[in-house]
Amino acid sequence: MNLIFYLITFIFGTCIGSFLNCLIYRLNSKQSFLRGRSFCPHCKHELSLFDLIPIFSFIVLKGKCRYCGKKISWQYPLVEIATGGLFLLILNLQFGGSQFSIFSLLTSIRFFYLLIASSLFVLVFVYDLKHYIIPDKVIYSAIGITFFYQLIYSFQAVGPSFWSFLLSAFGAAGFFFLIWLISKGKWMGFGDVKLGFFIGFFLGWPNVLVALFSAFFIGAIIGIGLIALGKKTLKSQVPFAPFLIMGTFIALFWGQNLINWYVNFII
Ligand SMILES: [Zn+2]
Repeated sequence: MNLIFYLITFIFGTCIGSFLNCLIYRLNSKQSFLRGRSFCPHCKHELSLFDLIPIFSFIVLKGKCRYCGKKISWQYPLVEIATGGLFLLILNLQFGGSQFSIFSLLTSIRFFYLLIASSLFVLVFVYDLKHYIIPDKVIYSAIGITFFYQLIYSFQAVGPSFWSFLLSAFGAAGFFFLIWLISKGKWMGFGDVKLGFFIGFFLGWPNVLVALFSAFFIGAIIGIGLIALGKKTLKSQVPFAPFLIMGTFIALFWGQNLINWYVNFII
């Protein structure tokens, strides 16, 4: 029974990933999100249902468009697999220990909220990596959804209060705002300030600290790696949102373990 749940969740995640790829493309080309069929970005040929099966169609078509033969970006299967994987981790986080026996309304709300929020994080991750900008439409929707979720969830569930989540949001945004102000926007864009607000609101205290610390840690390692490989210099612009989002997922799935480990380590 469990295996079926995991399988359905993964397949559902890859379909959402496929939809996210489409949104990433349409957000950049200023097309309507929901209307119109999908087409090949090179030859504009409409795609059939078969061409849209996540991961599978990429493998069968050997990564090429069936109509014009142009290479399909690795972004497509990678986003599908990543979203499927994230959905699995969320399923495991929410229902893993309970053998799927405890389906309370509150855990279900949290489960679906986490699926939506992680999809929005994937969207921002890829969009910032490609275009060096975080779309306002996405980040404001994310903050709005999180506001309503926290209103419902944090007032009902045992744990940190709504106000503590809101304070974490302002704390993280304030931190990035200061970096933005001091560096006059060179080290960090204003989009990171808004993303910081979303992350703080999403994780709350103290997980937001784990996210920020992990983000700077991963950013430093990858930054040094890119400079050593000669791909970037100290003056290169590097999008920071992908690191922040990696940090956020680390905090979501392993934050408590990391905090426990750290507390044991220093005592
Ligand atoms: Zn084509």
